Amino acid sequence: MIKRAALIGLGTMGPGIAARLARGGIDVTAYDLSEAAIERAKSMLGTIDGVLDRLDIAAPDRGAGTIKFTSSLSDAVAGAELVIENVPENIDIKADVYRAIDPLIAPSVIVASDTSGIPITKLQAHISNPARMVGMHWSNPPHIIPMIEVIAGEKTAPETVSTIRDLIRAIGLLPVVVKKDVPGFVENRVLYALLREAVDLVERGVIEPEDLDTCVSWGIGYKIAVIGPMALLDMAGLDIYKSVSSFLNADLCNRADLAPVVKEKIEAGKLGLKSGGGMFSYETGSIPALQGERAKKLVAVRRILEGRG
Ligand code: NAD
Repeated sequence: MIKRAALIGLGTMGPGIAARLARGGIDVTAYDLSEAAIERAKSMLGTIDGVLDRLDIAAPDRGAGTIKFTSSLSDAVAGAELVIENVPENIDIKADVYRAIDPLIAPSVIVASDTSGIPITKLQAHISNPARMVGMHWSNPPHIIPMIEVIAGEKTAPETVSTIRDLIRAIGLLPVVVKKDVPGFVENRVLYALLREAVDLVERGVIEPEDLDTCVSWGIGYKIAVIGPMALLDMAGLDIYKSVSSFLNADLCNRADLAPVVKEKIEAGKLGLKSGGGMFSYETGSIPALQGERAKKLVAVRRILEGRG
């Protein structure tokens, strides 16, 4: 099993990924070109470890791995068997990272991208050993959500996919192999279909944003955590699906551009939690408590779903 990983990019996703890999027994060297991002990641590790403790995620018998931070890319990748690229969702930035690490790593090193949806086939055009490149798409917050999509590009070797799938399993997480390199893979295709319809319903005044969230969280989300969409079809009955979809599918939102309500908010600088307001407003200073409360609930739900009370 892979014992040493380099993590490139310590923004929203990086600290949780580093902590979860280390808890799985992997030694991680974590790098970011921003010193501030490195300091922020360091400062988050205590809280993240507390969450992993509450999830009862035990380290393997040989003990937890270490996390070492570095501001040198070559130090980060030295000796790594796996490099996880976790820089912004921009193909040019990602390609620059691949070009920079290419001369620093052996051909046997696997390069995994946490891209949310850029086809792996496009990314592997920028690396000299595309057979060893694979998608490894974590879900946010990555130390709490156990599912990780594994995606092969056209040139990814099957052994690369199986090595990453087995690694994910070995550290107690749930790999899902995506068999075709479609944009957005599976998780984000499903999520974005839901988000498009949700935003459209709010925009058209069909429902208030708070009620939309209550409807989806308690009507769909709560249920779907136990009964996935394919099983839900069987529960509802395929004949019922046929009659409802015969009139409803044609009425669902199918816009290809960004909904005006979201565009206007972005133009007004309302980007969500990071700017204190987005679809909702957040009182100054309230965000850490909100995030803590959400983490607590996600931990509690996960424990119940895993039958651990
Ligand atoms: P982010 O913007 O929060 O952080 C990116 C980090 O990369 C920053 O700290 C930045 O300083 C650093 N960076 C930029 N260029 C770099 C370089 N050349 N070398 C090293 N570091 C560099 O991004 P994020 O939300 O953590 O997303 C990272 C990746 O994970 C993206 O591909 C994103 O699509 C994917 N992802 C994000 C989420 C999410 O909910 N945010 C979920 C799943 C996957």
